[in-house]
Amino acid sequence: MVKTSKKFPGVKWIEGTGEFIKIDIKKCTGCGSCTKVCLAECFQIVDKKAELMSLDECMECASCWYICPEDAIDFFWPPGGTGYKSNWG
Ligand code: SF4
Ligand code: SF4
Repeated sequence: MVKTSKKFPGVKWIEGTGEFIKIDIKKCTGCGSCTKVCLAECFQIVDKKAELMSLDECMECASCWYICPEDAIDFFWPPGGTGYKSNWG
């Protein structure tokens, strides 16, 4: 299934990406950096730990992985042909 969003015109998400971001709860300190950097608002902090709400609008920018000071986020590229697609490449 292909999904579009009013929030991000020109962007599509192709279903079938699976879980390509994982949080190691043992390492997470709940600093909140991932929630601030993610433009798609994929994360929330619950009981001082990061939690993924949804990857439905993830743009695969890997900013969350890059910014996490505790190395608590694992990021894998989704399989080819799935996930984020835009009109600009
Ligand atoms: S940036 Fe890393 S340590 Fe901070 S809340 Fe997110 S997952 Fe946890
Ligand atoms: S890869 Fe980018 S858009 Fe996806 S969850 Fe991380 S910061 Fe958000």
